[in-house]
This record gives sequence, structure tokens and C-alpha cells, in this order.
Amino acid sequence: MKIQAQVVLKKGREASAKRFHPWIFSGAIHSVDGNPTDGDWVEVRDAAKKTLGFGHYQKGTITVRLLTFTNQEPTQTIYKEKIGKAFYQRVIANVINESTTCYRLVHGEGDGLSGLIIDIYNGVAVMQAHSAGMHTDRQLIAESIREVLADGIHSVYYKSQTTLPGKTEKEYLLGMSVLPHVVMEHGNKFYVDWEEGQKTGFFIDQRENRKLVGEMAKGKKVLNTFCYTGGFSVYALAGGAEYVHSVDASEKAIDLTKKNLELNGYDPIKNLSEAADTFDFLKDKKDEYDFIILDPPAFAKHKDARHQAMKGYQRLNAEAMRVIKPQGIIFTFSCSQVVDRQLFYDTVVSSAITAGREIKVLDQLSQPSDHPISIYHPEGDYLKGLVLYVN
Ligand code: SAH
Repeated sequence: MKIQAQVVLKKGREASAKRFHPWIFSGAIHSVDGNPTDGDWVEVRDAAKKTLGFGHYQKGTITVRLLTFTNQEPTQTIYKEKIGKAFYQRVIANVINESTTCYRLVHGEGDGLSGLIIDIYNGVAVMQAHSAGMHTDRQLIAESIREVLADGIHSVYYKSQTTLPGKTEKEYLLGMSVLPHVVMEHGNKFYVDWEEGQKTGFFIDQRENRKLVGEMAKGKKVLNTFCYTGGFSVYALAGGAEYVHSVDASEKAIDLTKKNLELNGYDPIKNLSEAADTFDFLKDKKDEYDFIILDPPAFAKHKDARHQAMKGYQRLNAEAMRVIKPQGIIFTFSCSQVVDRQLFYDTVVSSAITAGREIKVLDQLSQPSDHPISIYHPEGDYLKGLVLYVN
């Protein structure tokens, strides 16, 4: 790759790069030799001019996202090598099999590719860039995906209009695929629309938690709030739930939930899906459900929104704890990166105190193995969940 500049760090600011943390913050930079533009490859050096690694440059708080930590200049094969490693890890962890045709192939920092997400939907790779560098290199990345997966994919769709300000591309980088498209997850079928859907089209990160819901839902009267595609609803029904009611503020999400219920052979009348705000929906409910799922969107996207977000989580959980029947189960989640595990737990404790009921923690949940967390990048641990038993 063509290296456009050398970024030299202030004395003593090399520690995190030496520990394989990929982010170089603007405050750590002493000088830039050269005139890089956003998306360029640069070399990062310590104050003694020793090479720490190479990565993508982008003006802003995170100025460089390191992709290597050696003094060897990266070559054109870098993406192929890294995507190959990521794929192998999914094979080893047994993520991909006949009953699961959708998985995350690349999870940013967790796969040593800060700024890049690649989800595989039954033969279609959907790629999302969160950095200018991944945007610049998108065609090379698409070709690298094809080299690694070969017959495993027939097209690569690029979707970064929500993650990169100013970039409006929605395009196929390789091949072409028509919608509707069906994927399978633990034997359950789902429509995925990467063109119009949220994120890359489906929330793959809840796969193992959905499976656990299925295992606990037999005979239960289930309420799935913030249902989006109806993922948890389908698993609960597959697990033998008496019925599932699904709620989402978006009409589009409710349409999709209904379609996914039908696709799997479940009655959309008995299993009602309603477009409503979760807080409004819960307001006059009591003792109707004995199983409630709370999977809201990230209430806090930035640290300065955290306090307000915690109030939202507190109120939501307290409401579910008030509404649920005795001996009920609540699955509650937070996907806000800026809300850590302890803070989420403490907030749920506060909800319990408000609800004043006897509550136990049965399980503590996280993200699945195709959303790995680099041990050197704790920020990658974003999905937190608790399984609660409410007497
Ligand atoms: N549980 C889903 C993912 C949830 S994404 C899954 O397994 O795939 C969050 C969803 O919450 C979005 O579909 C969004 O439309 C919905 N949403 C946001 N605010 C809401 C609110 N106040 N009430 C109900 N739904 C809401």
C-alpha cells in the first residue's frame, strides 16, 4: 500500500500502540511528516522515530486507526490475509453450518480491521465502512472477500451512507442480488433487506441470545419489545411459546415481523405485532405476560448522552418489572458502547428497587463469537444482557 505520511507520537504516548490498541488519538500526536488526506495509509512512529505500525489516517479525535503493529510495510494482500484469518476463526468456532447461513465475517477492531464491518447473508456480503480508509479501499476489500469466500458469496453490497457523513454510496461492488432474500439462523428463517433495513439489514449479534430465549420460552406468554425483524419472536415460538406479542415503534419493522412470523409458519393473528412506543404499550398492562424481552436501540451513542440514557434504561426495566407476572422472566439488553457492564447492572438494580419485587439474576449475556472482542480493545465489549427472574 502507498504510505503517504509519517505520524510521529509525543514522547511516552506509544504505550497503547505497543499494547496493540488500534486507535491513535489526536492528542498523542507530535507531528505529521507529509500531507495526508482522509483515508490515506500512514506510518506511525514513536518519539525516537521507531516504527510502531501502519494504518488509516483521518482528521478527528481518532486520527489513525492502526491495522498493523510491525515495521513491515503492508502490501495489497493485507485485507485478504486478515479476512482469511477472520473466516478461519468463524470456522473454528463453528458459527457457520447448514442451519445458520448468516454471520458476521469481520467485526472491526475484534478482527484487527478497525473501521470495517462485513456481514454475510446467505451468499451476499454486506460491507460497511466506519472510517475513510475503509471507504477508500472498498474495492480491494470486496475482491479480498471474494478471494477468501470463493463460491461462498455471489455479491458484495456496500452500505456506508449512515456510517460515513457525506458518503451516499449504496452500491454493489461485486455481482448483484435481488430482494427479497432469505437467510437461516439456527434453522429459523428471516427476510433480510440490506438496502432498506437498519444497520446491514439484521441484528446478527443477538443470535445466541435469541437461541436462549427459545430454550426458555416453552408455554410462555411472551412480549417482545423493540422487536425490529421479530427475531426473538420467531425463536420464542419455535421454542413452544403459547403466544408472542411483538412491539416496535416503526411500522416497517412491524411489517417485517409479520412477514417473518408467516415465513416460519406462525399465526400472525394469535401472535399480534403492533406498531407502538414501548413505554406507551406497557403503561396500562399488568400480569398479562410471563416473559418479556427488552432490546432497545443504543439509548446513548456518546458519553455526554449517557446520563439521559441511564434514565431511559432505568424506567424501561422498572416498567417491565412492574408489568410481568410472578415467576416471570425478563431478558434485558443494552447495546450502548458507552454504557459498560457494571453501569448497566447498577441501573437494573435501581429499576428493581423502584419495582420493589423479588428479583434474581439468572444469567449474564454478551455478544456471540462472530463479534469477537480484541483483548487489547475493551471498548469492543458492547452488548450486555441480563436474564432476570421476577417473583
Ligand atoms: N430486537 C431486535 C433489534 C432491536 S433494534 C432484533 O433482535 O433484531 C431497536 C428497535 O427499536 C428498532 O427497530 C426501532 O424501530 C425500535 N424502537 C426505537 N425506539 C422505540 C420505542 N420507543 N418503542 C418501540 N420501539 C422502538
